[in-house]
Amino acid sequence: MRLFDPHVHMYCRLTDDYESMALCGITTLVEPAFWLGTERTHPESFYDYFEHITVFEQKRAAKYGINHYQCIGVNPKDAENLEVTLPTLEGMRHFFDRPSVVGVGEIGLNENTANEMIGLEKQLELSQELKLPALVHTPHVDKRTGVQMIADLIKSKSWNNDLILIDHITEETIDIVRDLGVWVGMTVYPNTKLSPQRAVAMFERYGPEKMMVNSSVDWGESDPLSVPKCVRLMRMEGWTESDIERFVWRNPIEFWGQSGRLSETPDMP
Ligand SMILES: [Zn+2]
Repeated sequence: MRLFDPHVHMYCRLTDDYESMALCGITTLVEPAFWLGTERTHPESFYDYFEHITVFEQKRAAKYGINHYQCIGVNPKDAENLEVTLPTLEGMRHFFDRPSVVGVGEIGLNENTANEMIGLEKQLELSQELKLPALVHTPHVDKRTGVQMIADLIKSKSWNNDLILIDHITEETIDIVRDLGVWVGMTVYPNTKLSPQRAVAMFERYGPEKMMVNSSVDWGESDPLSVPKCVRLMRMEGWTESDIERFVWRNPIEFWGQSGRLSETPDMP
């Protein structure tokens, strides 16, 4: 069975992680653009970074037999500075012409501010205009408020909600998004967010439609083998291979496949 990790930041991981992921069966990744640890002060800083993830990271992944796709966007932490965000949203458009760019992201909320909401709404509109999926980050602090703000925005529009993936959803927030028709992402982290046990339990309770799991690996405490660890747990719990495959392959393929840019298909073993 092939595995798909639909949210990773390989930019800040070692090459060893690509090797471990490949050895555990991960063949496909999506790397959304994110916060680099310090605030960017010019749109050009974003463009250089987008160039890096769409060219260099893709080549690095290919050496391990991994297909690497990307999302382009201004993340919520950077979106607070509208003087940089607004010109960047215009200047980044040509990156969506690249065949490996499958969506807009990651966008969303961090501290639930009015400026972050502007960045989120403009980029969700861009995703709808381009007919490309969008990856929406939800805040780690005051999470329920932030998820509700995102849900209220989506309800106030007549968007194609199939194109929206709301990520970092937990037991605390799933009730807000489950009836919106959006896709739901769950992040398995070693100490914060969800454990494999909690993610699999949520898949059992609320799934299998429109749910997927990711590692969101970055420079913090995170685990590039989160998706394979969920697979191991599901096998130990007696899940069928077909149900496991739905969670870690067919669902993410179906969602990101809406871009028309994946070379994989749901039926690929
Ligand atoms: Zn992320």
